[in-house]
Amino acid sequence: MESCEMKRVPEMFGSMVFNEKVMKERLPKEVYKALIRTADEGTAIDPAIANVVANAMKDWAISKGATHYTHWFQPMTGFTAEKHDSFITPVDNCSIIMEFSGKELIKGEPDASSFPSGGLRATFEARGYTAWDPTSYAFIKDDTLCIPTAFCSYTGEILDKKTPLLRSMDAISHQACRVLKMFGKNCRRVNTTVGAEQEYFLINKSDYAKRQDLIFTGRTLFGAKAPKGQEMEDHYFGSIRPRVKAFMEELDNELWKLGITSKTEHNEVAPCQHEMAPVFETTNVATDHNQLTMEVMKRVADKHDFVCLLHEKPFAGINGSGKHNNWSISTDKGENLLEPGSTPHANAQFILFLTAVIKAVDEYQDLLRISAASAGNDHRLGASEAPPAIISIFVGDELEAILDAIVREIDYTDVEKTMMNIGVSALPPIPKDTTDRNRTSPFAFTGNKFEFRMPGSSFNIACTNFILNTAVADSLRQFADELEAAGTANFDKALASLIQRELKNHRQIVFNGNGYSDEWQEAAAQRGLMNLKTTPDALKHYTDEKNVKLLARHGICTATELESREEILLEEYCKTINIEALTMVYMATRQIMPACVDYSGKVSNNVAVKKSFGLDSPAEIKIAKQITDDMAVMLNAIDDLKQAVNAVPEDVSMLNRSEYFRDNVIPKMEKLRAVADELETIVGEKNWPFPTYGQILFYV
Ligand code: ADP
Ligand code: MG
Repeated sequence: MESCEMKRVPEMFGSMVFNEKVMKERLPKEVYKALIRTADEGTAIDPAIANVVANAMKDWAISKGATHYTHWFQPMTGFTAEKHDSFITPVDNCSIIMEFSGKELIKGEPDASSFPSGGLRATFEARGYTAWDPTSYAFIKDDTLCIPTAFCSYTGEILDKKTPLLRSMDAISHQACRVLKMFGKNCRRVNTTVGAEQEYFLINKSDYAKRQDLIFTGRTLFGAKAPKGQEMEDHYFGSIRPRVKAFMEELDNELWKLGITSKTEHNEVAPCQHEMAPVFETTNVATDHNQLTMEVMKRVADKHDFVCLLHEKPFAGINGSGKHNNWSISTDKGENLLEPGSTPHANAQFILFLTAVIKAVDEYQDLLRISAASAGNDHRLGASEAPPAIISIFVGDELEAILDAIVREIDYTDVEKTMMNIGVSALPPIPKDTTDRNRTSPFAFTGNKFEFRMPGSSFNIACTNFILNTAVADSLRQFADELEAAGTANFDKALASLIQRELKNHRQIVFNGNGYSDEWQEAAAQRGLMNLKTTPDALKHYTDEKNVKLLARHGICTATELESREEILLEEYCKTINIEALTMVYMATRQIMPACVDYSGKVSNNVAVKKSFGLDSPAEIKIAKQITDDMAVMLNAIDDLKQAVNAVPEDVSMLNRSEYFRDNVIPKMEKLRAVADELETIVGEKNWPFPTYGQILFYV
């Protein structure tokens, strides 16, 4: 049975994807070639071939049982959006044909006026349009042909997360090709690659359904610690519960059908926490696939009577969930540019690309931090389970020694010798494995790629990657300018002095120590590194002049578009906290308080009854008193929180409003939670109105 299943995997893999194999089978040779060229080179699609492609796509989709199609896009909400149209076209009063034209493939017009646009679209010009991204395959989901698209306004402003990503991929490709040319390599395209490890929680649907906080906000807003947390570390890589295993198997199957290379599934540190890691892909495809993965996880969980929580911090006191963004750059010939080489020449090239990343991360610390900023992720960054809010790069001791040797080399005549050394003796022994083990670094070199660990589990990774791509593209642009100006005759010297200068300038961002320690907070401050602790702290730097210039220079987005993004993200932060506060008020007033009234009433009644027998009841009196006192504290805390929410300033900037939520609302939420959690430890279990941490996390 099992081996039968195993045989089916290769057949199943990608069976719901209009991939190259299907295209080759179903498209005329010329059309197929033209389409592949379009995808490889990022050029515009020829409308003449679009009709042929659309028709083949439709026939294929119908053969798989699809009846509808949708332009699938990634608006600023962070979710994916779709509007389904059927293939049906009536031909007369009683019959229809199934049609799908090139026009419908290339461009769609969702009535999407209520997606956030940060003031970019006045409602009278609210319509946006979606444009096919031929570099990401169409696929079938829920009997619908989904066409990956970018989403723009009619006046051309970007309204989604995907467009800047696609543009950044062109930018880094262009600049990297220029640099590679100086190394005598002619490349047409350089792509960044991403493998996004996805963490998630699985809990019982029946528990979820009883908790308003999980339903409305995705995280628990109340909950005393269970007697056991993750301190025994017995869940990490531990044996997987049979129900969870069944979920994982089905998840793998569903992902494989969609051509998503789910590779490893394992338990994570916290109870009920798991992780899925895919094999890396080109960044925009990896982004689409990660969005799909999150969706499929939720759907499959539902079928298994679970709910999949993708929130960054569903439970206080145990680990939250992140998304590790493994990132590298490779040429169209498959050469990974962050892979140390075996010759001096190859290693010089590796060091140059490494330097480009180091420079980019140092210069755009704020943008990278912003790409991981949200109300949910604020609970994670800086807590001792996830990297701190400070950006630094881990390179491992061996590589650091090499970089230091390069920096210290000041005698110009020796520079060439150093370059030789880089290649011959120093580089080859970089052991890959030792580089992977510093889990406290937000940005770690792991042998042939970087792993950015800050993004939250619910994030769309498009943002992180468009920033990473663009920042590195800008380093490469400057390097290419300098090397081209020096000319091939002076290449080696120019290269050596460039690398040395840049490493010296950006040495401060490299840190191999423990990122969780308090000393690092101080040391980082002394180095002048940014420490943007909260989302408002981070987001206000989005539109700093250097950031606007960077993104404009590479054609990623304009100042206005960037402002709108900052506004959208700040507003999302405010809305999130507002909903959380209101949910807390609701639960405290209408669920916790009544439970306390009931329970303390019962206990107090006992006192009266016992008294009529002439018995004392010191235990009941003590309990009743404790609960009564706490109830009074809780009532005040509820009132304070309500007041804070009612007094949210309306006529201030979004930044100020977000700071208000951070400084005035969150502390009151914490106060309310503290007393409610205290009550939970006194009130009888049967009287508590919703499942506790212990019940949710340690289900059988
Ligand atoms: P592990 O962490 O288990 O040792 P790896 O380090 O090989 O495994 O991979 C972790 C993640 O990094 C996986 O999603 C993998 O596909 C991805 N990855 C590996 N190589 C690259 C690369 N060149 N570019 C981007 N991601 C990569
Ligand atoms: Mg990892």
